[in-house]
Amino acid sequence: MNYTSTRDNKVSVSASQAILKGLAFDGGLFVPKEIPKLDVDIEKLKNSTYQEVAYEVMKLYLTDFTEEELKDCITKAYDQKFDTPEIAPIKKAAGAYYLELFHGATIAFKDMALSILPHLLTTSAKKNMVKKEIVILAATSGDTGKAAMAGFADVEQTRIIVFYPKDGVSKVQEMQMLTQKGKNVDVVAIEGNFDMAQTGVKTMFEDTRLNAELEEKGYQFSSANSINIGRLVPQIVYYVYAYANLLKTGEIQEGEKINVVVPTGNFGNILAAYYGKEMGLPIDKLICASNENKVLFDFFSTGTYDRNREFLLTSSPSMDILISSNLERLLYLIAGQDAEKVRSLMAELKVTGAYTITPEMREKLQDFIGGYATEEDTNEEIKRVYEECGYVLDTHTAVASFVGKKEATDKKTVIASTASPYKFVKSVMSAIDKKYGNEDEFELLEELHKISGVALPEAIKEILDAKPLHDKVCKADQMEAITKEILDI
Ligand SMILES: *Cc1c(COP(=O)(O)O)cnc(C)c1O
Repeated sequence: MNYTSTRDNKVSVSASQAILKGLAFDGGLFVPKEIPKLDVDIEKLKNSTYQEVAYEVMKLYLTDFTEEELKDCITKAYDQKFDTPEIAPIKKAAGAYYLELFHGATIAFKDMALSILPHLLTTSAKKNMVKKEIVILAATSGDTGKAAMAGFADVEQTRIIVFYPKDGVSKVQEMQMLTQKGKNVDVVAIEGNFDMAQTGVKTMFEDTRLNAELEEKGYQFSSANSINIGRLVPQIVYYVYAYANLLKTGEIQEGEKINVVVPTGNFGNILAAYYGKEMGLPIDKLICASNENKVLFDFFSTGTYDRNREFLLTSSPSMDILISSNLERLLYLIAGQDAEKVRSLMAELKVTGAYTITPEMREKLQDFIGGYATEEDTNEEIKRVYEECGYVLDTHTAVASFVGKKEATDKKTVIASTASPYKFVKSVMSAIDKKYGNEDEFELLEELHKISGVALPEAIKEILDAKPLHDKVCKADQMEAITKEILDI
């Protein structure tokens, strides 16, 4: 299986090369030349562990990894770092199935892929005889940063530099990043929003002069953002696992189609579900849930993607995004793998901030439903589910839960539950009861424990008495300068 670029069909690289590079040189995203079909019966996966399902899915994409290499990566990634043996358990609450993807080291779903990416990357480096130090650059809206820092901390032959919007993350998220140990990790707050951080990182990847300079000093860039195929592939696994799990518990019958609702920002998670469907997983609708930054909702309703609008800060900061990078991979598929077409749409986006897809492309979006939740909808949903069954949703999951309820069909619905409520404790608690609105975020942790009965996760205990270790701040246009300073070049 080889990978090509969404912007140039002539590109052809192996899986390990695509993982190493992160982004194609033309600025496009790596995509498999063909989406493989699952080659086991889902029925057979009913009694498989998460690790076994991971192998069955990932082996189809990472074909230049040996069985031993891939299994080794999987074993190292999905271990006691997760606080439940199932890795991705399902909770049935208020008539829906919440697929809990937040039991990893940093209590957000980014752990599902970022626990394994460092292993995939170092294995890829060995396979390709890369001797250079790999510099991971990541832009984060809050959760990727910590998950990537934790994943790469003290991993040999790697450096990691994370950029986050200074006033765009929760206090817990910020503390998680600022207290990260490891001699190869750096984190920089930028005076700007997530899109500026992401654009800054992409610009550095595409800067040939900077890349040459780096190479001279023995470095090479790679990406831990969801543009890396090494993040997308591990995310397909939990949709397959969830389906097998529902079969096992008798919640669904063999072949029964389900709907999947995904709280969406950069479009990585929902794209993984779509790949799962294309691989043969019985999914009916993919419901794309946005917060008030509803650029994707508008795209699905009108066929026009338009980022020319105000960037809003919401209580679901990991979805505060106006440029959903992974949508490019979907465009590639609905354009019939026409890289030329994608390239021209992306050029238009860059220049005008907007593009419109053709009617033929729109035709192929039937599998998707777009929806969004306002801040008020989100708060009410947290309160509703809590009052109905005592289950506490985080703000991102609540966006999905609200949209899932609104767009309900006759199918059973799996909601991707992307973060622990502890991570967004202030928003969550004040949604449940306004009286919590003025309290200190850290004081509310114990309150959340009391009302939910869910134990305080390790990730939270860790930051309670840790001291910040990082304090770098820069303007959005100084990202290259500070990167050079960190790398001492
Ligand atoms: C990153 C993130 C999302 C959005 O996922 P995408 O793959 O970027 O669409 C949703 N919820 C949480 C908690 C996240 O961290």
